[in-house]
Amino acid sequence: METKVVIIDRALIRDDQLLEGAAILRKGGLVAFPTETVYGLGANALDPEAAKKIYAAKGRPSDNPLIAHIGQRSDLEVLVKEIPEAGRKLMKAYWPGPLTLIFPKSSAVPYETTGGLDTVAVRMPSDLVAKRLIELAGVPVAAPSANTSGRPSPTTADHVYEDMNGRIEMIVDGGPVGIGVESTIVDVTGSVPMLLRPGAVTLEMLCDTVGQVAVDPAVAKPMSAEIKPKAPGMKYRHYAPKAELMLVEGKEQSVSDKVVDVIANMALEKRAQGHEVGIICTDETYDRYPEEVRIRSLGQRSKEETIARNLFGVLREFDSLGVEYIYSESFSKEHLGQAIMNRLTKAAGYHILEV
Ligand code: AMP
Ligand code: MG
Repeated sequence: METKVVIIDRALIRDDQLLEGAAILRKGGLVAFPTETVYGLGANALDPEAAKKIYAAKGRPSDNPLIAHIGQRSDLEVLVKEIPEAGRKLMKAYWPGPLTLIFPKSSAVPYETTGGLDTVAVRMPSDLVAKRLIELAGVPVAAPSANTSGRPSPTTADHVYEDMNGRIEMIVDGGPVGIGVESTIVDVTGSVPMLLRPGAVTLEMLCDTVGQVAVDPAVAKPMSAEIKPKAPGMKYRHYAPKAELMLVEGKEQSVSDKVVDVIANMALEKRAQGHEVGIICTDETYDRYPEEVRIRSLGQRSKEETIARNLFGVLREFDSLGVEYIYSESFSKEHLGQAIMNRLTKAAGYHILEV
């Protein structure tokens, strides 16, 4: 299959550039498109055959559910059986935006889209290209991140091309995304809203809106064999670079000399053995690491937005450079930091060294 790339000028989003993609979606094909979080791999959420194509293109296990994206609030009705009160409040506060809500599903949503669950995940993106594409398609669009299953999510159209060229009909290139980590996911089907995946709508923001919010244990810790995951997808390895990644965590919020020394020494040791080695750090520490290895800063430590936006791109860059071992500084777990550390710890396979 030839994958067509359509480049969008964000200064002037024109319908005629999006109509072909919208028609492909409506007819059951696959179109990758930008959202404010990461690039999504879209298909008609109401078409079971289309949903199956997503799993095939990504190599994703078919019990890992998809998020249905809508263009406007009124498109929610067809997807859900009911809208719990907490869901109403959260939608009012954060839609359109990087927040996915889990509702009881309606009979219109096929089990192929929900990975066999009786619930459906729904989000209304704020990205104007995504919004217009979905509106023109005229159907809800199931869209997981547009990466090969397990790899870091794509934050540019080039990342999507790397993974999906030849596997999907079209890539809509709207430039690099703004947020860089996937949406926050909150299950509102129970008595207390439950955070399943942290994102740019932070736990603190959710609590401001609905009071109490529970946090699924899988957000911070590996899923033990006995616990049945709330969403099957939570059990899979995620966001991972090809390299072995280790996170080094100090006792203080700032990065101590000890953290820098430990990372530098481990990196040099692997380098001396002839391996390709990468270090993930911040602007504050960049100059303190040895030149013999590849060093990438995610930005200023205090600018969490920048750190989040750069994270997956650096992991992918290390993949393309053939890096075999990555050592990373760690970050505060508050606010957006919770999402950053959630992705980093999963990418590291929970390989964390406390010093
Ligand atoms: P992705 O779009 O690739 O970032 O992944 C979508 C994720 O949304 C899945 O891995 C699940 O964790 C979550 N999800 C989707 N649908 C549901 C659902 N019905 N219940 C719980 N989690 C869901
Ligand atoms: Mg994903």
